[in-house]
Amino acid sequence: MTTHTEPLDSVLETVGETPLVRVSASPDAVPVYAKLESFNPGASVKDRIGKYMLEGMLADGDLEPDGTVIEPTAGNTGIGLAVAAGQLDVDAVFVVPERFSVEKQQLMRALDAEVVNTPTDEGMGGAIERAHELAEELDGGVVPQQFQNPLNAEAHYATTAPEVYEALDGAVGAIVAGTGTGGTLMGMAEYALERQPDTRIVAVQPEGSMYGAFFDEEPEEGEYKTEGIGTHDPATNELFDPDLVDDLVTVSDEAVHAEMQRLAAEEGQLVASSAAANSLAARRVAREIRDGETTVPHEAVVTVFCDSSERYLSKGVYRSFEEWEG
Ligand code: PMP
Repeated sequence: MTTHTEPLDSVLETVGETPLVRVSASPDAVPVYAKLESFNPGASVKDRIGKYMLEGMLADGDLEPDGTVIEPTAGNTGIGLAVAAGQLDVDAVFVVPERFSVEKQQLMRALDAEVVNTPTDEGMGGAIERAHELAEELDGGVVPQQFQNPLNAEAHYATTAPEVYEALDGAVGAIVAGTGTGGTLMGMAEYALERQPDTRIVAVQPEGSMYGAFFDEEPEEGEYKTEGIGTHDPATNELFDPDLVDDLVTVSDEAVHAEMQRLAAEEGQLVASSAAANSLAARRVAREIRDGETTVPHEAVVTVFCDSSERYLSKGVYRSFEEWEG
């Protein structure tokens, strides 16, 4: 909780209760609000599932108190799980495809976790396979598996969404979020649709990602620099339920890169590429609502700024588009 009004016993108590801030480039009549997830102790949205999944698995007996979690992760989930594992006396091993940011891997190691790299060309599928192999080799090894663990989406149903609804007195018209595992969007969507079935739910992905396959599209697969969202293998995205989603917005790396720089220069928001993708998509949804192209029960559009650009400075996020390594 981002509070300064009382002393806290553990850093785990600072997970969640992040600020909700207006995106000032959004239309006056249809404001976009972003949840600033870099305020979490591991500086990303994934601290929520790190804490929620480990506490849930320990409570259910799926994880022994002195057990080991082994997770395939692009990085932020590893940091979130490592923060929680350290405080809950659980060991942690992370399997990370090589191309993901070195800062994240350094942070996981600093949090006392072990990092195992898999080849970039094997993608998340290769990392998932290796994590399961390691779990079989290790005594008390468990794979939380964020791509299929219902506790992932439940963390957002139980924390992210209620925080947003409290801040906006329930007046939420649309929820727009990039989907990696889909946990953030699914958990928030479920909460929103229970309260107001007409709430518009919009998924966001980079060009080259294959989420379109869920909507009977025939997407063209390609590489993208936007990090943390999208999929190359929709079969691994077991939490994603297209029935909850009204629209899928696809954004180009070029547009994301420009928005990341605009958010810093104009709005003081030092956020990374998935946040910029969310900002672009949420602003587009807000314009559609303003122009009467979409009808929603309330004006406000809510999105998530998943993590901070500081985590990607070594990849040149603030240099030219060509110099951005992605
Ligand atoms: N942005 C970043 C930077 C992430 O690390 C992730 C998680 N992969 C996401 C967005 C997407 O979140 P989710 O897995 O809940 O869809």
